[in-house]
Amino acid sequence: MEIVLAESLGFCMGVKRVVDMAYRALDKASGLPVVTFGPLIHNSQEIARLTASGIAVADEATLPEKGTVIIRAHGIAPQAYEELKARGLKIMDGTCPYVHYSQRKAAELQREGYKVVIVGDRHHPEITGILGFINDDAIVVESLEEVEALPQLDRIGVIAQTTISPKKYNAILDALRRRAVEVNVCETICDATEENQAAVRELSGEVDLLYVIGGRHSANSNKLVETARDKCPRSFLIETADEINSSDLSGVGRIGISAGASTPDWMIQRVIERLREIEKSLANHR
Ligand code: SF4
Repeated sequence: MEIVLAESLGFCMGVKRVVDMAYRALDKASGLPVVTFGPLIHNSQEIARLTASGIAVADEATLPEKGTVIIRAHGIAPQAYEELKARGLKIMDGTCPYVHYSQRKAAELQREGYKVVIVGDRHHPEITGILGFINDDAIVVESLEEVEALPQLDRIGVIAQTTISPKKYNAILDALRRRAVEVNVCETICDATEENQAAVRELSGEVDLLYVIGGRHSANSNKLVETARDKCPRSFLIETADEINSSDLSGVGRIGISAGASTPDWMIQRVIERLREIEKSLANHR
């Protein structure tokens, strides 16, 4: 039984960076609390591991009086940053560099006199953070219908949520171009999730069975399984190694593995170990 990993899988750079930052902060905390400002990641197993290590999730109401607070990869508004500073907490800023770029670009566009248009989910923390950099003075659109409902616009500067699907974004951009006199587009889409998609697409044509490791409610993990099933109908989403059914593996030659953007390396490793155990037990029963 051969196990083949997708060329790109699991944590994106921004999530890996902030999770590493949290564990480093704990090493240097000298017994003082370390908290994350909101959950760092949409993966309950990794959150449980962080909590068990002593890194709790906090919000405005539950922040400690002393210690370190980690800002997650989505970033926060400058006003929220100042509030954390005013509490006297040590701040470690885990804002993803790509999100920092969007924040800077939004402010720059506004200074240059453009009306900022953000394409994405207005309730997503990344967008709330960016809005804070431009005093909430922007139009946020998420669908073609919302663009069609806009009045005629003059000079607009467009920022995309980093994780939006390029296909959806391009359709919205075309609609915005028909609605505005001048459109200045900033390239702010991050290709991390697209890289995982491209890698699973390729791998799915080369294996007999494929596991995507990720949360059942994770949109990007479900999309990976959907993509994989085009070429490999025996593609399954599993949250943990315990969900692997040994009867599925009988007679399977090559197994592919992919993982959602919130799946840590140690969970991928556990799946590989479990597959090796099953391989051994199947060999013993021959
Ligand atoms: S912008 Fe890209 S690299 Fe950064 S956290 Fe989001 S998905 Fe990850």
